[in-house]
Amino acid sequence: MSNDIPLLRRFAAQCLLGGIILALLTFVCFRLGFKLGTTGFVYLTAIVLLSLRGSFVSSAILSLAAIACLSYFFATPIFSFKVNLSQNIVLVTAFLSTTLIVTRLVTRVRRQAEAAFQSNDALRRSEAYLHEAQRLGRMGSWAQNLSSGAMSASPALLHLFGRDPDKEKPTEKLFREIIHPEDRLFVEQAVTQGRNSKADFGFDHRIVLPHGTIKHVHSVAHPVIDGSGDLVEYIGTIMDVTERKQAEETLRQAQADLAHASRVTIMGELTASLAHEVNQPIAAAVINAGACLGWLAGDTPNLEEARDAANRIVNDGTRAAEIVTRIRLFFKKGTPTRELVDIDEVIRQTIVLLRSEATRYSISIRTWLAAGFPQVVGDHVQLQQVIMNLIMNGIDAMKDVDGARELSVRSRLADGEQVMVSVSDTGVGLPPQQADQVFNAFFTTKTHGTGMGLSISRSIVEAHGGRLWAAPNAPRGATFQFALPIEDEPIA
Ligand code: ADP
Repeated sequence: MSNDIPLLRRFAAQCLLGGIILALLTFVCFRLGFKLGTTGFVYLTAIVLLSLRGSFVSSAILSLAAIACLSYFFATPIFSFKVNLSQNIVLVTAFLSTTLIVTRLVTRVRRQAEAAFQSNDALRRSEAYLHEAQRLGRMGSWAQNLSSGAMSASPALLHLFGRDPDKEKPTEKLFREIIHPEDRLFVEQAVTQGRNSKADFGFDHRIVLPHGTIKHVHSVAHPVIDGSGDLVEYIGTIMDVTERKQAEETLRQAQADLAHASRVTIMGELTASLAHEVNQPIAAAVINAGACLGWLAGDTPNLEEARDAANRIVNDGTRAAEIVTRIRLFFKKGTPTRELVDIDEVIRQTIVLLRSEATRYSISIRTWLAAGFPQVVGDHVQLQQVIMNLIMNGIDAMKDVDGARELSVRSRLADGEQVMVSVSDTGVGLPPQQADQVFNAFFTTKTHGTGMGLSISRSIVEAHGGRLWAAPNAPRGATFQFALPIEDEPIA
C-alpha cells in the first residue's frame, strides 16, 4: 500500500501536467485557427513526448481528452461533441488509434531501456562490491583460456601484484615473471601437474613486486571442463598471506625460545647434581694421579702400574670433559640438525645426567635397551630434551609417593619400521579427569611447573615424524611413550 501512494501521486501529476499542456495547445491552436488535421498532429506530438515520461494509462487518458477537444473545438459542428463529416470521423478515429499505438510502443521501449539500465547498474554495483571485497580480503581472481592462452584478472589482483590495472594488462608473462625466482620451478611443476590431471591445484609461494618487496601468497585454481571432457579454462584466486606467514614465523621463533628457556630451567634445577656428576671423575683422577706418583716414587718405580694409573687419569679426564660437552650442547641454542641418532646412546647419556637427581629421591632407574636397532634421523639435542623431560617428569611424579619408586626406560623396534621408547614410573599417575590435557601448553599441576615440557616434547617428536602419548600404569604411575620412524634413505 505504501508503495502505491507515490505511484498514484505520480500518475495524478502526469495527468495534471498533460491536462495543462493540452489546454494550452487547444487555446493556441484555436486562436491561430488551425484545422482539425493540424491540431490533431500537434496533440499527437505532445502526447508522444509526454508518454516518454508518463505511463501508458495517463497517455491513454490524455488521448481521450484530446479527442474530446478535437471534436468540440475543431470538428464541425464547432462547440459540440458531435462529429458530422465522415472525413472528420476518420481523422478523429485515426488520431485515437495512432496515439494509442505510438504511446503503447514508446512506453514499452522506455520500460525495456529502464530495465536494461537497472540491470547494468546492478551489474556494475555488484562488480564494484566484488572488487572492494577482493581488495579488503587482500586477494584477486584470474582466468585463463587454455586454447588461446588469453588471461584476465581482477583489478584487485593487479593491485596485489603492485601493478596499475588501468595501465597494465594481465599476461602469462607477467604471471610467470612475478613469481620469486626460487619458487618458479616448483610452481611451474605444480601447475603442469594440475593441468595434466585436469585437477584443482593450490600451493603457497612468494612473489616479487616491482620495487623488490616480497609477498607470500596462496594460490588456488579450478579447471573448467566442457561437455566432451576437454579442459577449457582455469579460474583461480591468489591471496596475500604475508602477515599470516610472518605471524607463523614469530610463533615458531617464540616456541624455539620457549623450548630453549625450558631447557635452561631444567638445567638450572640440575646444577647441583651435575656438579656432583663432574666431581666424581675429577676426584677419581686425583686419586689415580696420587697412585701414579706413588708407583713412580722410590728407587725402583713400577712403570707398568704407573702407566695404568696414568691411563685411568686420561679416562677420568675424558669422562669429565664429555659431561661438560653434553651440558654445553644442551644449553646451546641453534637450528635443528639432521643427523643419525643412536637412541639408546641418548637414553644412556640422559640417565648419566639424571642419576644423582634420582638417587636424591631414592628412585631406581632400570633400562631395557634393545641394542643394535637402526638409528633414527633427527636432532640429537632435541631428542635428548624429550627423554630428559619424560624422565624428569617421572622423577617429579615419584618424589613424594610411598612404596617402591621405580623408573623404567625401554627401547624396542616395532614392526621393523619404528623405534619405540617408553618411560614408566610408579608415581602419582596422570591427573584424574585431566589426563587428556597433559600435552596442552601451560597445563601443569606442579607449584613451580611451566606446563611446557610435554607440549614441546610432543612438537619435537611430531617434527621428527613420530608420535608421543601417555597411558596410566597398573597398579600406579604413568607410562609416556614415543615412536620415531626409521629413515631408510641416507641423510643429504
Ligand atoms: P610441567 O612438568 O612443568 O608441569 P609438563 O608439560 O612436562 O610441564 O607436564 C604437564 C603436566 O603433566 C604435569 O604438571 C603433570 O600434571 C602431568 N605429568 C607429566 N608427566 C607425568 C607423570 N610421569 N606422571 C604423572 N603426571 C605427569
